[in-house]
Amino acid sequence: MPKTLRLILGDQLNAQHSWFDEKDSSVTYLMLELRQETDYVAHHIQKVVAFFLSMRNFAQHLKTQGHTVNYVKLDQEDNSQDLEKMIQGKVKEHHFEQFEYQLPDEYRLDTQLKSICKNLSIPCRSVDSEHFLTEREYVKDFFHGKKTYLMESFYRQMRKDFTILMDGKEPLHGKWNFDHENRAALKDKRLLRKPKTHPKPVSDVVKMLTEANVKTIGKIDEEEFTWPCSREESLEVLDHFCTQLLVHFGDYQDALTTWDPFLFHSRLSFAMNTKMLSPLEVVQKVEAYWKEHQDTIAISQAEGFIRQIIGWREYIRGIYWAKMPEFAELNFFNHQRKLPDWFWTGDTKMKCLSHSIGQSLDLAYAHHIQRLMVIGNFALLAGIHPDEVDQWYLGVYIDAIEWVEITNTRGMSQFADGGIVGTKPYVSSANYIHKMGNYCSHCAYSSSKKVGEGACPFNSLYWHFYNRNREKLENNPRIGMAYRTLDKLKNKEELINQAEEYLKNLDAL
Ligand SMILES: Cc1cc2nc3c(=O)[nH]c(=O)nc-3n(C[C@H](O)[C@H](O)[C@H](O)COP(=O)(O)OP(=O)(O)OC[C@H]3O[C@@H](n4cnc5c(N)ncnc54)[C@H](O)[C@@H]3O)c2cc1C
Ligand code: SF4
Repeated sequence: MPKTLRLILGDQLNAQHSWFDEKDSSVTYLMLELRQETDYVAHHIQKVVAFFLSMRNFAQHLKTQGHTVNYVKLDQEDNSQDLEKMIQGKVKEHHFEQFEYQLPDEYRLDTQLKSICKNLSIPCRSVDSEHFLTEREYVKDFFHGKKTYLMESFYRQMRKDFTILMDGKEPLHGKWNFDHENRAALKDKRLLRKPKTHPKPVSDVVKMLTEANVKTIGKIDEEEFTWPCSREESLEVLDHFCTQLLVHFGDYQDALTTWDPFLFHSRLSFAMNTKMLSPLEVVQKVEAYWKEHQDTIAISQAEGFIRQIIGWREYIRGIYWAKMPEFAELNFFNHQRKLPDWFWTGDTKMKCLSHSIGQSLDLAYAHHIQRLMVIGNFALLAGIHPDEVDQWYLGVYIDAIEWVEITNTRGMSQFADGGIVGTKPYVSSANYIHKMGNYCSHCAYSSSKKVGEGACPFNSLYWHFYNRNREKLENNPRIGMAYRTLDKLKNKEELINQAEEYLKNLDAL
């Protein structure tokens, strides 16, 4: 093998990659902590810390396996903070004869690495990251010629291709999807379990970021940082999910409550998005555990979880590569408003939002329904520019990497793609939030009130949204009903005026 430099990005911590099958003294692995990564958006402090800590642990793991690693910390004197210069410099200094990298998941880095390779005087090669079930172009080819990319058909194909929850050619228990059984509100807090955490001090990383003036958002406990930051820790979180949480995952997947931030969610997105765990190993482990415990765990719990990973996650990633870079510019409704200031403080009288945003700032985490039906729902009803919404989501969540953030936020949540990811916008009035949990009973607004003092803003904004977007939505067969209801409303004008008032004063809500 010629003397080779291999780049490992911060979200490529895949210890099972074939690169590491053999030790080869002609290969050096390069890992870099760079300002371009800390600064492309204002990230949550926990997100930056989790990435750097996991990268450092991964470098250490490779070294103990006998690989040669060149790891450059953010504050190291020889760190020019420029990816191209760093690679060029290493090649020159150590006389590398070949440069290799794993295909990045972000369009931004894909473009940058291609350009770097053009300027390098040695042969360059990219290899698969060996993480996803499908290749980048699979979803694009699968839905060739279709306007809407229906997740369900893709998901079924994955089930068949990877023989997951299958009985020969048929789905186990005769059904592909148990979604209708997965919509309960949590009524009994005794069902809740403590999350599996790995408290560790991270003050050295925080100090380094502070001294370097890296701008971050959110809070961190420097003495007890709880996110999994190695493969071992991630495997323990997966194990905890199977033994403690899977039993209720599906039932309460959509529940909203002030009692607990994580409910029965796995907290595995960061571990998977950094590739410390592979999606296939996660679903295979969950399937195997469910099979052994079928007497106590219903198939709907396992199917609900598996669908999120080999369905949604894989599909979302395919959409990204099918539709970027145009996707990042889409603004179907031409929304233009700025996010209210309380997105950075959680300081709003609306309990659903103060709770979900406050939790996001405290923990760098909110579960799917908080992201979609509380925060995203509000942003869409309020007509916030999708760029603003994207920047916020990309910054705040521990698991936010553009390929999975933008497709979920701009696509699924904001419908800014006009219906590629979803067939209709995910919007609701207070009804849904009230039905799914206890936020409304702790709120300054009344969920049942539509207009007047103390009326829940979701109620009038909901109709304002449909009213102002009539031309764009009325002909959608899944939405027609909403327009028939709107046209019959006796207090339509009052509702629209109420919404206008709220829209003028978003910061005061
Ligand atoms: C507006 C919005 C923005 C989002 N941004 C991100 C993001 O930046 N990064 C991210 O990983 N997920 C994102 N999601 C998807 C989902 O909310 C998170 O993956 C999930 O909340 C992570 O918590 P968990 O690991 O406890 O998930 P669980 O509820 O335990 O689900 C298990 C796994 O399924 C996968 N998954 C579930 N839903 C999705 C989905 N829609 N897309 C992709 N993967 C999914 C995740 O890998 C997750 O870890 C977003 C969803 C919405 C609505
Ligand atoms: S009443 Fe409205 S604003 Fe308050 S928690 Fe319920 S949905 Fe949210």
